[in-house]
Amino acid sequence: MKKQRLVILGGGESGVGTALLGKDKGYDVFVSDKGIIKEKYKQVLIHNEIEFEDGEHSEEKILNADLVMKSPGIPEKVALIQQIRAKGIPVVSEIEFAAKFTNATLVGITGSNGKTTTATLTHHLLKQDLNVGLAGNIGDSFAKQILEHDYENYVLEISSFQLDDIIDFKPHIAVLTNITPDHLDRYEYQFDNYIASKFRIAKNQTKEDYFIYDGDDEVILDWLKKHPVQSTLLPFSLTKTIENGAYLDKENIIITIDNNQIIMPTKNLALEGKHNIKNAMAASTVAHLLKIRKQTIRESLENFQGVEHRLENVLKINKVQYINDSKATNVNATYFALESMDAPTVWIVGGVDKGNNYNELFQFVNEKVKAIICLGTDNKKLMDNFGGMVDIIIETQFMSEAVKIAYKVAEAGDSVLLSPACASFDLFENYEDRGRQFKDAVRNL
Ligand code: ADP
Repeated sequence: MKKQRLVILGGGESGVGTALLGKDKGYDVFVSDKGIIKEKYKQVLIHNEIEFEDGEHSEEKILNADLVMKSPGIPEKVALIQQIRAKGIPVVSEIEFAAKFTNATLVGITGSNGKTTTATLTHHLLKQDLNVGLAGNIGDSFAKQILEHDYENYVLEISSFQLDDIIDFKPHIAVLTNITPDHLDRYEYQFDNYIASKFRIAKNQTKEDYFIYDGDDEVILDWLKKHPVQSTLLPFSLTKTIENGAYLDKENIIITIDNNQIIMPTKNLALEGKHNIKNAMAASTVAHLLKIRKQTIRESLENFQGVEHRLENVLKINKVQYINDSKATNVNATYFALESMDAPTVWIVGGVDKGNNYNELFQFVNEKVKAIICLGTDNKKLMDNFGGMVDIIIETQFMSEAVKIAYKVAEAGDSVLLSPACASFDLFENYEDRGRQFKDAVRNL
């Protein structure tokens, strides 16, 4: 029988992982990347005798595919994808392709903010008692892990781009952390399109599957009213009592599933900030569903080390705490960072503006921020928005200088917070590079 031809567009982590799994499962695999494939990935492809090209897309080699796997970075509107669709060739994402080759229990985590934190924390809770992998937008690709491990459970961090190209994919447990506008350029600037994309995580779920979501998020609640899902609903809330799901009762998180309750004090949680109570609720609800022992859940929430670049405590110098929240690439993430500050704050902010509306930060800036350091190529909007609000507002285009200025203006008891509310591409390679430069500069003080 002729082999099925699998064409993979994009030679990054998910593309190469899918190529390996596809080859192992008997497909005739071809990888095509219009950019340059990293050397380490090229070596893997060569070593595994997988045909590939980079720097171009050869249409004749692509349009004869039986199945196309599109990497999440490639927008739907590019001409090649339109041509593929016009020929009736199915286009899928990595999770759609890979999930067919595992019987593991899948926990899928999506949302605008908190995906990595919640996925990493969930994995941390589950791994105490279960054989579980962590994949999706984190670490080694899901496809590669299916090939190399025999995990019985997976925690998957899933972006809306991955969800756009699912057909049958269904997590047994879905988590939707929250929804605020992001990536709208990929959704025709229609917020509804982006919301619909996030909700695709539940589209194949049935009553036997669970949908865990922020029961305080008006966008989610409103959407659920208009577009009910089939799944068993388990909301979490900071503001109201929840009978089936999780809520905050003064100092305790209470999670109830089918009358089985677990109570966890919040005062010992390793991660600070209200948003992290939500993340902890979501992760513990998953753990409770998968029957992790209650004491294990409590202990693991206390000893979780956090995730780099997310409200990461770097160093204390002269009684000033330096905090790296470089992953805050939108206003909502920075909102929660500022909210969680309980010391006077020197705030380093700026980068590539994504159409930001800063109004929701004004109250926190008035209450908590003593100085602002604008770190971007174009700082005008920040200066205009916050100029009248603080005594000190300075701009720079260098991380080392930003940190030195912060060092000068901060006094004992203050915090210095890098939480940019913007993308990093004007001055840095990516948010990791920005966070690392911040930490290096702090360590060099
Ligand atoms: P994602 O993977 O969705 O981008 P991360 O866990 O990497 O989310 O966190 C991104 C940013 O959002 C960080 O600045 C973090 O402090 C903040 N954050 C984390 N959890 C939440 C949440 N539940 N709501 C809002 N912001 C959050």
